Amino acid sequence: MISFLDVKGINAQYRTEILEAMTRVFDQGTYILGKEVELFEQEFAAYCGSRHAIGVANGLDALILILQAYKELGVMADGDEVIVPANTYIASILAISKAGMVPILVEPDIKTYNIDPLYIEQKITQRTKAILPVHLYGRPADMDPVLALARKYNLKVIEDAAQAHGAFYKGKRVGSLGDAAGFSFYPGKNLGAVGDGGAVTTSDDALADAIKALRNYGSHKKYYNLYKGYNSRLDELQAALLRVKLRHLDDENQRRNAVASRYSQEIVTAHIVKPEMRVDGSQVWHLYVVRTSERERFQKYLLDNGVQTVIHYPVAPHHQPAYKEWHAMKFPVSEMIHREVLSLPISPVMTGDQVSEVIKVVNAYA
Ligand SMILES: *Cc1c(COP(=O)(O)O)cnc(C)c1O
Repeated sequence: MISFLDVKGINAQYRTEILEAMTRVFDQGTYILGKEVELFEQEFAAYCGSRHAIGVANGLDALILILQAYKELGVMADGDEVIVPANTYIASILAISKAGMVPILVEPDIKTYNIDPLYIEQKITQRTKAILPVHLYGRPADMDPVLALARKYNLKVIEDAAQAHGAFYKGKRVGSLGDAAGFSFYPGKNLGAVGDGGAVTTSDDALADAIKALRNYGSHKKYYNLYKGYNSRLDELQAALLRVKLRHLDDENQRRNAVASRYSQEIVTAHIVKPEMRVDGSQVWHLYVVRTSERERFQKYLLDNGVQTVIHYPVAPHHQPAYKEWHAMKFPVSEMIHREVLSLPISPVMTGDQVSEVIKVVNAYA
């Protein structure tokens, strides 16, 4: 069986380095907000090309804390609207709800699966305060039109970069394209911890200060509380491991890109729609997502022939029980995507033979 994603195999490549780093933390004795988190924050900010990175507990919290910080700074308020793609992973939308704001869904572009800039402007109201583009599946959203609208209407741009560590848009890394960005280090992400983790990147000094306080009970100075904050911190063990893996991230993304290139060139069946492959290497291929109107049959066929796949995602956010107030809304493009998508195996540790096998099995589908 070719597994969808071999997380254990990915981490095993760096076993010695990682265990050395984690042992250093174990022996050193500071486990929360110490040297490793501080160094990881410096290294990750430099990597992304932003002035600050703030380690937090997970990707959902990263997004919530950005919005909450804007509230503390008086830039946003409860009930304000945030524009977000209708086909994103639920966390992008939950973050807006959890921060006391209103998610406004916008259809994606069927070619890129990212928010369609053409439909954003008609959703902007007096209450709109931000646009939250998601770099879905590792492909950067088309940021220029988003940034132009943000300038025109005085909105903040918050990137959800949880699936796109290291991706480029016009020569700049994601995480440095908008006002702030949220990253996740969930184990299966391109930069994954062995537990939960996340980060915010931003070049806004005031926002960075507010988030640093908010993640730590709202405290800017020990036992003095500026805000009603959270406990949402990246821990030292995860930071030590992430520092090791960050050094290999570009190489891993290149290997993902090589797998995607082979799929794009060698998969020739007319039964599926492949994702658009850009030749400039700007995508980091968190997922390789194909589309077919006969998904169930295709997925079963692949499994019967030794290829494990996953559906990202089976239910559109506006059809989730959690958002029953949206059930009457219609987003036909997003709904079709949720009906048809299937993710093929992709990872930096897939062997050439495994890639060949997936291609052979897919092409033999009738
Ligand atoms: C994974 C993910 C998140 C949430 O990250 P967690 O660390 O799991 O909380 C947010 N947005 C997107 C697009 C994701 O893929």
